[in-house]
Amino acid sequence: PKYVYDFTEGNKDLKDLLGGKGANLAEMTNLGLPVPPGFTITTEACRHYLEHGTMPPGLDAQIEEKLAALEATMGKRLGQPDNPLLVSVRSGAKFSMPGMMETVLNIGLNDESVKGLAAQSGNERFAWDSYRRLIQMFGKTVLGIDGDLFEDAIDDLKARKGVTSDLDLDAADLAGLVDTFKTIVREATDAEFPTDPREQMRLAIEAVFKSWNAPRAVLYRRQERIPSDLGTAVNICSMVFGNLGMDSGTGVAFTRDPATGQQGVYGDYLQNAQGEDVVAGIRNTIPLTELERIDPKSYAELLEIMEKLERHYRDLCDIEFTIERGKLWMLQTRVGKRTAAAAFRIANQLVDQGLITLEEAVNRVSGEQLAQLMFPRFDEKAERDLLGRGMNASPGAAVGRAVFDSATAVAWSRNGEKVILCRRETNPDDLEGMLAAQGILTSRGGKTSHAAVVARGMGKTCVCGAEELDIDTKNRQLTAPDGRVIKEGDVISIDGTTGEVFLGEVPVVASPIVRYFEGELDPSSAEADDLVRAVDRIMRYADAKRRMAVRANADTPEDAARARRMGAQGIGLCRTEHMFLGDRRALVERLILADTDQERDEALAALLPLQREDFTGIFEAMDDLPVTVRLLDPPLHEFLPDITELSVRVAVAEARGEKNEGDLRLLQAVHRLHEQNPMLGLRGVRLGLVVPGLFTMQVRAIAEAAAARIKQGGRPRPEIMIPLVGTVQELEIIREESVQVIREVAAEHGVELDIPIGTMIELPRAALTAGQIAESAEFFSFGTNDLTQTTWGFSRDDVEASFFSTYLEKGVFGVSPFESLDVDGVGRLVRIAAEEGRATRPGLKLGVCGEHGGDPASVHFFHEVGLDYVSCSPFRVPVARLEAGRAAL
Ligand code: PEP
Ligand code: MG
Repeated sequence: PKYVYDFTEGNKDLKDLLGGKGANLAEMTNLGLPVPPGFTITTEACRHYLEHGTMPPGLDAQIEEKLAALEATMGKRLGQPDNPLLVSVRSGAKFSMPGMMETVLNIGLNDESVKGLAAQSGNERFAWDSYRRLIQMFGKTVLGIDGDLFEDAIDDLKARKGVTSDLDLDAADLAGLVDTFKTIVREATDAEFPTDPREQMRLAIEAVFKSWNAPRAVLYRRQERIPSDLGTAVNICSMVFGNLGMDSGTGVAFTRDPATGQQGVYGDYLQNAQGEDVVAGIRNTIPLTELERIDPKSYAELLEIMEKLERHYRDLCDIEFTIERGKLWMLQTRVGKRTAAAAFRIANQLVDQGLITLEEAVNRVSGEQLAQLMFPRFDEKAERDLLGRGMNASPGAAVGRAVFDSATAVAWSRNGEKVILCRRETNPDDLEGMLAAQGILTSRGGKTSHAAVVARGMGKTCVCGAEELDIDTKNRQLTAPDGRVIKEGDVISIDGTTGEVFLGEVPVVASPIVRYFEGELDPSSAEADDLVRAVDRIMRYADAKRRMAVRANADTPEDAARARRMGAQGIGLCRTEHMFLGDRRALVERLILADTDQERDEALAALLPLQREDFTGIFEAMDDLPVTVRLLDPPLHEFLPDITELSVRVAVAEARGEKNEGDLRLLQAVHRLHEQNPMLGLRGVRLGLVVPGLFTMQVRAIAEAAAARIKQGGRPRPEIMIPLVGTVQELEIIREESVQVIREVAAEHGVELDIPIGTMIELPRAALTAGQIAESAEFFSFGTNDLTQTTWGFSRDDVEASFFSTYLEKGVFGVSPFESLDVDGVGRLVRIAAEEGRATRPGLKLGVCGEHGGDPASVHFFHEVGLDYVSCSPFRVPVARLEAGRAAL
């Protein structure tokens, strides 16, 4: 097979084979842009190496051939003593894995060619600096030597010379450093630094291949769900130098502002520097616009190229470039990352510019991004006192008192204080504190650190890796770069969307996007900005395209009304359990304690009008839209007092010689109903079968509420849903009773009632026998919360706080299966149930009402298996609408 592609041979669609970087270098080459010549070794070669531990046969010869061609083009040979060709060897996988894999620059330098480079460039310091960089990078990445050994040697040298900047080291110093570095290599590896340019190149290629399986890369891939068997490509590129003097330099640029999406010139430039200097932040960069003054010719050319790239890729591009003595070179481009707001704005602008269709625009934004735009945010008009910044690890705006350990976070929040947990980094011991805090701030670790991963899982605001904030947990304080000290108890505000940390309380305002969804902000009004208009346009298109309906999970008239404003087309899950709490607890206790039929009937009769009222309000808010009412689900003991408290009360009374009959009976009931595994116990349909009259009371309340609404001129559309069914027999019994009650109510009120009765599919057995269950169910709604719990055997109330952080860290899964549907396992059950249910009852209505109904990836799956609707919390309704639209494109 062909393992090596010259840059002139590839194109941007070959990312699988050439990796992202290689494919885009080829694309730019073919566009006629100034790319330093080079070639790419395919991911296929890497896969062979990873599998067999050896280079694939024929690879060496192919590399030789391309190298010879490169040498001919460049008019110099790799490492040629008097005029050396130098190359970089860079990794480049299909998916960008920032900083995960290896790069070696300046390959081809040795004791002879360094002199040639000095003579050719007329710059001896530059030549020795390049050489020491080679040994340092090669030593660290290819030979696996501890990088600190090299850094320490540089620091020692500077200390001896009494200077602080690398730039103060002259050619002789750097030549000395090269000797020191060679000694480090010799002592660490028992071998000389390889001076043969071919050997350097070969070893560097091998090192890049191997770095695919470096532990950090493996972990990153697991977390980001990047398949582990793709392998990386290797790019061999002739070196150009930005560190040849003040007429040289290196920079990064974006074709639009990746933060806001506005058009303009954005980027940073650094004179007399090599690529890694910009990233490492060793010296301060200058805004790209200043390049116009420094080098107008290169600047003009760069702008022209940027426009060309944007038109070609039809999207925002980011770019790395180098200027070598006034000559511009393009080193990399790709479709650039952007914030959520920028994504919507750019997609909309590109439609206006005629570069993309509206359909493409909808595909360029995501529900995840929309959700980010809906978080409350700090008031931009308010005064803010910036302390420093870190990484935007989990969006949102959080205000609270700084605390520096988990126990304090828990203790203070119990007292009603809002706290921000500040840690250098977090570990599983911090979980309780993280749960108790409004937000989390760390000074170490990136976006896949424990803090970031767990905070995102919890939906908590988090800023991580704020290295400039010195967090001193021992002394319970943090120090800002300007020297200000924040002590425990001082109020700070953290912005998880931007990574900013402010002193004091910054006022929080509702997102304009939420105001738009709530109908408070008219997109055509002057108050609405281009972001609101972009969202509006994209949502309209998504709504027009989607096949699935979107409903909301809501159980009060207020929530129902809100959901409706957000675009919900009905209620997919009205949980009735909250209707049994509060003042009504006493009635529920009476029901549970009833010894006789009469006592029980009285308790139920007292609950009936209250339930009826609940439903009437909801049917009114959702007039003419379906409302799926789920009959009581949780185990009864949840409505009784806590067993410990009650036992103490009874014991204290007994000790005093008193006897409270009521408490005693209650305690007996609590004991009777106590279960080791309540989630697997007497709940759902089982309650309906065991507690006579309970479900029929609820059905009657629903039917009577519907009848009342009809008489008021409304159009109620209730649906009755039976939870936790495992076998069709359970459903049949409840169904018969319910149909009977509905018939009675219809007759009593002289109205026609058409109330479908369906079931939740939330147990594996229900999914596996869906064909039978469909005989009795008029609709299915997948309860993916319980279905996930019972399929995995994970207690949904416990695991996220107990061991999921470890699972996430170890990469067992990249995201909690309670958050994003486990397509392979739980999804398989959903698919089976959908197919077999519809085989029995063609046209069977299918929906989902677990949390997954609002999760973007899960929504796509539900579309694909043919569900009719998803139901999610009111706030997620717009996200589900957008994703259902995207799924249908
Ligand atoms: C479910 O199990 O997915 C569901 C929606 O029901 P609940 O969360 O109330 O158990
Ligand atoms: Mg459930």
